[in-house]
Amino acid sequence: MTETQTTPPILISAAFDSGNIDVLSIDGVTARLAIHRDAQSTFFQWFHFQVAGAAGRTIELQITGVAAAAYPDGWRGYRAAVSDDRQFWARADTVYDADRDGGTLIIRHQPAADLCWFAYFAPYSWERHLDLVARSAVQPGVSHRVLGHSLDGRTIDCLTLGHGPKPVWLYARQHPGEAMAEWWMEGALAMLTDPADPHARALRAACTFHLVPNANPDGSVRGHLRTNAAGVNLNREWHAPSAERSPEVLALRNAMDLTGVDFAIDVHGDEAIPHVFLAGFEGIPSRTDAQSEGYRRYRSILERRTPDFQTRHGYPNARPGTGNLAMSTNQVAERFGAVAMTLEMPFKDNDDLPCPVQGWSPERSMLLARACLQSLHEWLQG
Ligand code: ZN
Repeated sequence: MTETQTTPPILISAAFDSGNIDVLSIDGVTARLAIHRDAQSTFFQWFHFQVAGAAGRTIELQITGVAAAAYPDGWRGYRAAVSDDRQFWARADTVYDADRDGGTLIIRHQPAADLCWFAYFAPYSWERHLDLVARSAVQPGVSHRVLGHSLDGRTIDCLTLGHGPKPVWLYARQHPGEAMAEWWMEGALAMLTDPADPHARALRAACTFHLVPNANPDGSVRGHLRTNAAGVNLNREWHAPSAERSPEVLALRNAMDLTGVDFAIDVHGDEAIPHVFLAGFEGIPSRTDAQSEGYRRYRSILERRTPDFQTRHGYPNARPGTGNLAMSTNQVAERFGAVAMTLEMPFKDNDDLPCPVQGWSPERSMLLARACLQSLHEWLQG
């Protein structure tokens, strides 16, 4: 008898926080799947689902139609994240066949346990977010405030700490599928709230930090790649945020207007480029030489301080005067004269320092946050 006659088929569910998969068919240990689009939008790429009944069996998951995803170049050289215990995320054998079934990502894996989870990147749940915010808010010297609410009524949480004159804003997950951005924030908060950390002590004396770990909670819970509950890409709203389309950005930008901004990092993930890199504000109308030099100096300090960061690969610079002020880094640099930047971490791996087991991971995202903050301390020395 064949296996499908003797053992039941695998079962698949995505009915949980940040879940995203449509089951087209299941035959024994093989499943045909598809990713559904962000609400009222054409973007899709994030997936996250549970497979049950697979212990010791080699399963084949075919995620079809992905050539039409937001970043099809993201599938080449990509391996899916997999976990048995939802704590440690490894990578599964993954092949991309661009010519099959509208582009198919084929994941093969033999789980040791009955249950296992697959995701585009190690997920960062809303419950974990609430734990992070609550745990941070009770640390000495930390204050919490709700900057506003998302369209679905979730809080835009901001943690403030430090008593120095320089206002620093760190914010993440405008693009909700970029879960590595909130892992980065968890690393940043762990360091900045550590009373013993020497860099954190110096930074808290020099700066006042405002940290927004999740700027798009609705998209995160809904399992979106790139948009909020109304299908709006929040990082294209910064010139004119509105309560109807983008209350998340409106709340964040209004709060920045009250404090001013000297230094800012908008934390993201990049689907296609297998490196960590920064993007700046080269194209804004009022850019000054001092502002540009501040950005270049920060990049070179970070490059020297961590082998996980480099400056050879990244996005092309905007030509002078062509910067898109709808994007937060440009808007913040233009509006406040700040040294502002977009930090991009890979969904794949850092090809300069690859990790065969995990690829780019939560652990590395958290360590990168520490390197970024240590670099900020050095940068402030002038
Ligand atoms: Zn992004």
